[in-house]
Amino acid sequence: MARIELINVTKKWGDIRAVKPTCLDIKDKEFVVFLGPSGCGKTTTMRMIAGLETVTDGQIMFDGKCVNTLEPRDRNVAMVFQSYALYAHLTVYENICFPMRVRGIPKDQWKARALEAANMVELDNLLDRYPKELSGGQRQRVALARAIVRKKPQCFLMDEPLSNLDAKLRVTMRSEIKHLQEKLKVTMIYVTHDQIEAMTLADKVALIKDGEIQQYAPPTEIYNDPATLFVAGFIGNPAMNLIPGKMKNGTFISEGIKVKLTKGIKETDVTLGVRAEDLELTTKGKAEISAKVYAFEQLGDCNMTVMAFGSVRVMAKISKDIIFKTGDEIHFKANDSRYYLFDNATELRIRYR
Ligand code: ATP
Repeated sequence: MARIELINVTKKWGDIRAVKPTCLDIKDKEFVVFLGPSGCGKTTTMRMIAGLETVTDGQIMFDGKCVNTLEPRDRNVAMVFQSYALYAHLTVYENICFPMRVRGIPKDQWKARALEAANMVELDNLLDRYPKELSGGQRQRVALARAIVRKKPQCFLMDEPLSNLDAKLRVTMRSEIKHLQEKLKVTMIYVTHDQIEAMTLADKVALIKDGEIQQYAPPTEIYNDPATLFVAGFIGNPAMNLIPGKMKNGTFISEGIKVKLTKGIKETDVTLGVRAEDLELTTKGKAEISAKVYAFEQLGDCNMTVMAFGSVRVMAKISKDIIFKTGDEIHFKANDSRYYLFDNATELRIRYR
């Protein structure tokens, strides 16, 4: 049981501010994913929560109590890292027992607890094997069993636990981790730079850039209601089309693109965002975006048309039954509610509806 709060938490390494003043409220039993590009401060934030790094400023609270001065082992968090660090000369069973030995848990309790943990991650049949006789996913599950065997942790901290696995195993292990968290009913903080992992696992995503949380919200909100230009461009595959231009008389204008939005938007430099799946084919008369096909991709379940406006590429997803070729003239429009506007100066969303 743990609600975890960060109150103006900062981390500096010399002159580098790895984590800018950060406030975050993680509710008990919530699954929160720290997502962001390499070097944005995800791991540092997690390590401060674990107690493996000191905070430069601010407070970390567990259930309303400040834990800044508590040693990692007194915070009762369980950690799983990218490398599972199993002992090669110990069997699965012995590996799972290891944390209990270190923590001085009486030997007569080991067996029951190890079997319970192994059962939770479905390792019961592999207890006598050595790590080298296991698949990557099975090894990862041993690491999970080791993390849960000590005593019920207040919180699980996982730092890219799946990044060493192949694509297929990642998908399987993703659902195992989600299942385990729901079964254990424990707060989970999970670091990744993989947006699919974040979208599928999280109750809430903290999307971080340059040591600063850009948005903290459920995945669907991050996808449908991005707060900043960075969030809009980071989430989604393909990424949201982002087209720089100007507002004039309530209309967004850029070369080959004219989208009537609403009067009252300041006449300034803006970026128009629209997702590939929200663009619909239309006739020339009704078009908002017109261009010649720059490239055409058949993806199996759908087709992708790529248009070029100077150095900006705009992608539109269309039915797999409609075929174009390079150079064909094409016209698109979208429902007004599917357009997003961002202020170029602040990179913040302009909420015009
Ligand atoms: P990745 O996805 O690559 O693991 P991350 O988002 O987890 O990245 P951090 O490891 O938290 O990023 O690093 C944040 C910033 O702090 C980076 O600029 C990094 O170089 C810097 N940093 C991390 N650890 C140290 C350290 N011990 N000393 C100095 N700078 C550090």
